[in-house]
Amino acid sequence: MPPIIGGMNAKPNIVWFRQDLRLSDNHALTAAAAEGSVIPVYILDDINAGEWAMGGASRWWLHHSLAALDQSLGGALAVYHGDPREILPALVAETGAAGVYWNRCYEPWRVDRDKQIKSSLDNPHSFRGSVLHEPWHMLKDDGTPYRVFTPFYKANIARDNFADTLPAPRFKCAPRPKSALALDTLRLLPQKPQPRWDKKMAPYWMPGEAGAAARLAEFLADGAENYKDDRDRPAEPGVSRLSPHLHFGEISPLQIWHACKGAHEAFTRQLFWRDFCISLLHYNPGMPHIALQSKFNGFTWNNDDAALSAWQRGRTGYPIVDAGMRELWETGTMHNRVRMVVASFLVKDLLISWTEGEKWFWDTLCDADLANNSGGWQWVAGCGVDAAPYFRIFNPVSQGEKFDPDGTYVRRWVPELAKMPTKHIHAPWDAPANVLEYAGVTLGKTYPKPMVDHAAARDRALELYKEL
Ligand code: FAD
Repeated sequence: MPPIIGGMNAKPNIVWFRQDLRLSDNHALTAAAAEGSVIPVYILDDINAGEWAMGGASRWWLHHSLAALDQSLGGALAVYHGDPREILPALVAETGAAGVYWNRCYEPWRVDRDKQIKSSLDNPHSFRGSVLHEPWHMLKDDGTPYRVFTPFYKANIARDNFADTLPAPRFKCAPRPKSALALDTLRLLPQKPQPRWDKKMAPYWMPGEAGAAARLAEFLADGAENYKDDRDRPAEPGVSRLSPHLHFGEISPLQIWHACKGAHEAFTRQLFWRDFCISLLHYNPGMPHIALQSKFNGFTWNNDDAALSAWQRGRTGYPIVDAGMRELWETGTMHNRVRMVVASFLVKDLLISWTEGEKWFWDTLCDADLANNSGGWQWVAGCGVDAAPYFRIFNPVSQGEKFDPDGTYVRRWVPELAKMPTKHIHAPWDAPANVLEYAGVTLGKTYPKPMVDHAAARDRALELYKEL
């Protein structure tokens, strides 16, 4: 461990890590380190999270991210499982800590909890979290929050008030508290009798601060330049894949912003979409359940478990939809373009509620994020504030043909269609019998027939949406 700086205070300070699992550009850690030794703590809080307790893929990520953080802290990370409202005061009493330091989170349940903790502790210190700007610094001139992205973006870019980032501080950790648990006791990895599904995900990712920095460096060296053109091509390595690193705070958006040095505008704009969703959720805490356009809350959705399950498992009979859902199942992520296509299919072709899709993504995405997920689903469903208009219904065939023109993405994730000629890969039901036979495809047997007729489903959705 590097030598201590500061050291004015003989008592240690608790640094409560949350969605900021990094040492660099970490305001809470830097401030605590300036006071003396540090007790680094992580608390898995399934109690206050309630229904938004982390899903399976996120837990897998968290396990490895905490292991990486612990390593960079020289094995000093103290982990706990339970309610921070009880654990933190008990830990202060146990360790004699002078204060508790944390970086802010913006999800409604965390804000409520943190407010209670702040008022119950003697010496709490909170700092800006993993955002470019905090929601209350991104308001319109009249003091109200933006509800449309483009003016939000333009105004905040024009303000040009991006904070500098902080280097990792030099500090010493206090002895690990006796009450701390071993990481394995959090049981974040799949437990028996569950299969070890996480093993197939592992090769795609390197959770942790070092993994995030390596991913950013790789993207800047080989991807960012062509982001504008390639970002909609799911078969290309055209996007950053930084979202789980950002969600867990292994890298801050400001670190990414400064690393881009004013270049790659199409890419850095996405960081503002992230801040925009955080702001929407902050000012609309019901967003994960309630359509921001209230007229949509009366819509009667289909309760069709069989159809939902076919969608979840990638067995809809629409190749681009199935490829996306299987990519998700295998890797814990899905390309943004395909997220929009599969979401539109669920909500508009199958008329299943966007909240069902939101829940499935919550469990299976390793970047599952309350703001971005509910924001993304409301956008596609057309019920958000700055959403795609309701009549925008993605056609899964033309989307496939446009964004996966040679069918590489479909062939990768739907191997039973691998031999289909490109001309028919996105609509195998239109292929002549001899082509299907050559490709070894028997519709309804080796690959499903389309579960709905898209044109008819589209008309039905438009009819119902119009009634709103
Ligand atoms: P890049 O294209 O490289 O973008 C860089 C970063 O900008 C991303 O890592 C992300 O943090 C942010 N970003 C990009 N697009 C968006 C967007 N549309 N909204 C908000 N932030 C964005 N993103 C999540 O992080 N978590 C989710 O749970 C999530 N659920 C989604 C659900 C639906 C239905 C849709 C349509 C989108 C969802 N997104 C979600 C947004 C987007 O799909 C992902 O952020 C993106 O695919 C992540 O890949 P990337 O890191 O390569 O992104």
